[in-house]
Amino acid sequence: MTARDGLLQVLEESFSDCSKCDLHKSRTNLVFGKGNSHSSLVIMGEAPDKTEDEKGEPFVGKAGKLLDNMIASLDLKREAIYILNAIKCRPPNNRPPEDNEIESCKPLWKIQLTIIRPKAILALGNSALFALAGQRGITKKAGKWSQYEEADLKIPVLASFHPAFLLSQPDYKKEAFVHFLDLKDYLNNKKKALQWIS
Ligand code: URA
Repeated sequence: MTARDGLLQVLEESFSDCSKCDLHKSRTNLVFGKGNSHSSLVIMGEAPDKTEDEKGEPFVGKAGKLLDNMIASLDLKREAIYILNAIKCRPPNNRPPEDNEIESCKPLWKIQLTIIRPKAILALGNSALFALAGQRGITKKAGKWSQYEEADLKIPVLASFHPAFLLSQPDYKKEAFVHFLDLKDYLNNKKKALQWIS
């Protein structure tokens, strides 16, 4: 176990009883996040779904299978990436997270990002984009870069479509694929994110 893994483990343990918002009342498991703490890429989704709530891991249901295929287009496996969500507990009936729930979770994922310090964050869907960059309107913002800024930490954020959306609207998969290729170029130092930030 590396020092970063150790810090994340202590953090996970210290928040395991979190009751900062009402979602703790209905959760089975708090879904902390999982993956390589030394990764240059963090992927942020929206919120745990039923399967994730049951297993305590992010993106292990249907949307997760599609996410794995998308990650493969980066020539990576999910074990090489760190994956978390904008909120850590499942909202009732899978409704979208409320702004106050994202705010309650922010201190927790803020520390995760500070420990991991990735080169880029992929924000999947509206909630992740709002959580990281305060922006809304994923249809217009998908494919664009913005920045997560917190104290001395500045991390480029690429917005893309949520895999659950892509499952219901497969016509957007081609566009999402292009976003992943852009991300791959950035991670492989073939492009500077700052040139694209808008
Ligand atoms: N959708 C998400 O946004 N995150 C998950 O972990 C599962 C489904």
